[in-house]
Amino acid sequence: MKFSTKAIHIGEEPNYEENGEVISPIHLSTTFARRDPEKPTKGYEYTRTGNPTRDTLEKKLAALENAKFGLAFSSGLAAETTLLLSILKKGERILASDDLYGGTRRIFDRVLGNYGVTFKTKDFTADDIESEITKDTKVVWIETPSNPLLKVIDIRKIADICKKSGLILVVDNTFASPYFQNPLDLGADVVLHSTTKYINGHSDSLGGAIMLNDEQLFDKIKFNQNAIGAVLSPFDSYLVMRGLKTLEVRMERHEENAISIAKFLSEDDNVQEVLYPGLPENKFYSVAKKQMRGFGGMLSFYIDEKKKEPKDFLKKLKYFSLAESLGGIESLIEIPYYMTHASIPESERNKIGVTKNLIRVSVGIEDKDDLIEDFKNALT
Ligand SMILES: *Cc1c(COP(=O)(O)O)cnc(C)c1O
Repeated sequence: MKFSTKAIHIGEEPNYEENGEVISPIHLSTTFARRDPEKPTKGYEYTRTGNPTRDTLEKKLAALENAKFGLAFSSGLAAETTLLLSILKKGERILASDDLYGGTRRIFDRVLGNYGVTFKTKDFTADDIESEITKDTKVVWIETPSNPLLKVIDIRKIADICKKSGLILVVDNTFASPYFQNPLDLGADVVLHSTTKYINGHSDSLGGAIMLNDEQLFDKIKFNQNAIGAVLSPFDSYLVMRGLKTLEVRMERHEENAISIAKFLSEDDNVQEVLYPGLPENKFYSVAKKQMRGFGGMLSFYIDEKKKEPKDFLKKLKYFSLAESLGGIESLIEIPYYMTHASIPESERNKIGVTKNLIRVSVGIEDKDDLIEDFKNALT
């Protein structure tokens, strides 16, 4: 089965025993009655532990990443926290790529940091990673393409290092979506998504997902999914299922639009540099080409502050809403320095290049001529 066939059909065979419905119903019941106190009716007891709508979604999520197992959570960060609490103990260390979603870094630093877990960030596209592995290092966490600098890390190379040292490699695959990249196929142990972004794709449901192949690790996370309780609701499970069925057609369009905008911006005098791995002149183009089937719909650029005040530019836009988040059908734009990445210490932001003139764009699936026209107007 190819991607869209899986997205549409896995877990949702027409129910001929009932009414023949072709989509999964939303099972809202929080509890499930049984006839025998020792045996749940069909394996279901209580919705936090297991719910038929969430189960169907989890099957689909696993299929999208060519994984054996999928788990759905109430947000991307809920998925991250549950995962980290399942694989780390006091005194252990996370080695992470330096360009991370702000909230991920906040968990490492201000949540797990209180429980004796340490972390270290490195530029996985430039630094020597092997020399950073200490005896306490347990988990390697990377985001590729990264947020907001669109750096692309060679997943297979890092997976080989992790295998040699017995480390768990987690890849946050939110930016690429499972349509453009499948990290498990490249040797990663765990893939993580904020389904809030491309997988749901319509900016109307907050959620997170974990996909993996290792059964022992799955059992631990599954236990904690119930024990901690940050599960995705049945209604959100339905929304995510509805969204992911069109992931392929949306991603194709997101990418087509992003390439056009990246090309347009790289020729504009007000723009210093465009960060988009799909431009052949981008330094990550070849590694992206090797491990991804497409370059995605996210791009960032540095506006030349001497020629154009970033805030004035943003004010003139009609179709790009100034908002956090990404991956929805509507175009969004933001300044990571003030918004998504404000929780990173200022010196660190400046050091890695998250400066006040860096603009991040989540290119939507509107008509690309309208989007380019909007940029043209705002830049003059
Ligand atoms: C949004 C995001 C998250 C966090 O997900 P939420 O659903 O907002 O909790 C994690 N990683 C990346 C790359 C994201 O963009």
